[in-house]
This record gives sequence, structure tokens and C-alpha cells, in this order.
Amino acid sequence: MKKYNFNAGPCILDRSVIEKTAQAILDFNGIGLSLAEISHRSKDFQPVMDEAEALVKELLDVPEGYKVLFLGGGASLEFCMVPYNFLNKKAAYLNTGVWAKKAMKEAKLFGEVVEVASSADANYTFIPKGWTVPEDVDYFHFTSNNTIYGTEIRHDFDLKVPVVCDMSSDIFSRPVDVSKYICIYGGAQKNLSMAGVTIIIVKEDALGHVERQIPTMLDYRTHVEKGSMFNTPPVVPVYTALENLRWMKAQGGVKEMERRALERAKIVYDEIDRNKLFRGTVAEEDRSVMNLCFVMNDEYKELEKDFLDFATSKGMVGVKGHRSVGGFRASCYNAQTVEGCKALVACMQEFEKLH
Ligand SMILES: *Cc1c(COP(=O)(O)O)cnc(C)c1O
Repeated sequence: MKKYNFNAGPCILDRSVIEKTAQAILDFNGIGLSLAEISHRSKDFQPVMDEAEALVKELLDVPEGYKVLFLGGGASLEFCMVPYNFLNKKAAYLNTGVWAKKAMKEAKLFGEVVEVASSADANYTFIPKGWTVPEDVDYFHFTSNNTIYGTEIRHDFDLKVPVVCDMSSDIFSRPVDVSKYICIYGGAQKNLSMAGVTIIIVKEDALGHVERQIPTMLDYRTHVEKGSMFNTPPVVPVYTALENLRWMKAQGGVKEMERRALERAKIVYDEIDRNKLFRGTVAEEDRSVMNLCFVMNDEYKELEKDFLDFATSKGMVGVKGHRSVGGFRASCYNAQTVEGCKALVACMQEFEKLH
């Protein structure tokens, strides 16, 4: 039976990206050796890093003065590296969920953290509006897509202070005005690659302004200077990222990724809104087009497990919601297909007929 992958992360990648990675692990570029057993400083690997950086710059239209890094540690390490490198006294954070809170927790180790707004009281079912950022903060941090709750901020903020964004789960799903940020970061396993690599886009002249000493590995300047090669980078995930970047470019770039995301999300949200068994969990205007969250309507609550079993029997994978929200979550990252979304909708309709 055909499987439809709705996993929240690590997540679906286009089959061709997986196949090219598999090939490179068996025999990289026809050199008779595996990508896994050659030096990251070899003439064979350096072009991988160079092209991956160049494609990120091209796809996101990254302006001069920014550096693209591929490091280990995941987005979770950036929660600490961001304040280490940018926080002198005070930073502002928008609290939109678990990941935002984890980022705030690390920042508090380095200075004062102002929470500009929070939707915690409503279990993060909407994006707070109408807040202001104090003008004396070193930076403002937000999470563009809240993977667990299915809310998303699909625009760039125009603020007087430097902006930092955790784009782990929606980077490359829309055009971004990178000039509005000093730092964008993301764990790769949601829209870029397999787990093991983190992407960071950092503005070079925003670095070097904190007073504290920074351990070498946690200092962005180390990696800027060494082109992500200060130590051994995660070569296989970087290679998968490269193949995925090539794939995105060939498909038409981030504008096309956005068009597809909106098309897929409409197919599924329309059904959530129409079907008597289900309802969406978040404010309509804040609905994520990456992680589509829904639950059984109250009168059908007891059918939750049945629907999950039913969907699984039809080939749906990873549609169980996060434990803090319950219900269901259909993650529709860049490689998700309209066919997959239609299969999920068919499943919801069939289940409705049974009840
Ligand atoms: C998954 C996720 C993280 C954590 O990423 P790791 O790479 O596992 O550390 C952080 N932020 C967001 C928005 C996420 O979705």
C-alpha cells in the first residue's frame, strides 16, 4: 500500500533527494568511495558546501553581508548561541509555544528577557497581536511556524530593533526578506534535509558586539571565518540539503513552494471546516500551512482513536497530533503532494460516511 508521510519532523523529502543521497553514500560522484568515508576538506566535498551555500543565497535572495552556515547541534543549540552572540543586556521574545519558551529559557542565562506577548493561556491557539517591542533591546526573537500547535507568521516584521527568527519548520516555504533579520536559523529536518544539520543565516556586522567571551564552537565568527569547516561538518545531511535545494530550485524556487503550500493547505482546511466530525484547533487567520492541526468535534470525541486507526489503515503516516494538543496534525512540508492531501481528505470523507 502507498504510504503518505505526514510526519512533523524528521519529515517527508522528495524521493529523488533520498535516492541521490543513497547513491552518494554508496559511491560519491563516481570516485569509488562513499561520501561517508572521505575528508570534508577534500576537493570532492568542498564543492558540496559551496553549492549548498550558494543555493540558499539564491533561493532566499540573501543580500550581501550575510553568511550561510551549516552546523551541528540542531535548532536547540541556536536557542543558546543566539543570546551568547547577540544579547548584551536585554532581549525581547514573542512566546508562541514550546519552542519559543525553550529559546527564552536559554536567553535568560545571558540577560533580561522581555516577553512581549504570549498566547500560553489559550494553549497557543493564536498568534498574539498588538504588542510592542521595547526599543532598548539587543534583538527581538520569534518563531515563524509553531510546529506543535499549527500557527504561523507568514510575513516579516518591520521593527526598529534587530530581529532573530527560528524558521525551523517553514524556511524555504515562502520568499523571505532576509534584510529584515540579523539571524535566521532552523534545524534542517523539517524542510531542508535529514536530521543532523542546522542552517544559520547570519548578518556579519551584527557579530562581535557582546562583551562576554564566547567559547570557540559557540561563536558564530568561528564558523563564518572557516566557512562551516572549523570542525568536521555533518557531511551526509549537508549533502541531502544540497540535493533538496537543487530540487526546490528545479521546481521553481520558494515562490513555487509557497504556491504549493497554500494549495495543499486549502485542500485539507476546507475539508476540516466542511466535515461534521472535525474542527480546526487554531484561529483561522493564524493557521499554519505547514502543520495542519485538527481534532474531533466534541460530539464525536470518542472516535479519535478509531479515526487514527482508520487513517493508518489507508496509508496515512504521522497524523497523530502532538500530545500537548491531541487530535491530529497533518504536516505538509515542501515535498508533500496534493495527491497525499487528497488521500487524507478522502479518508476523512469516508470516515464521516461511516458515522
Ligand atoms: C523541531 C523544532 C525545533 C528543534 O529543533 P532541533 O533541531 O531538534 O533542535 C526548534 N524550533 C522549531 C520551530 C521546531 O519545529
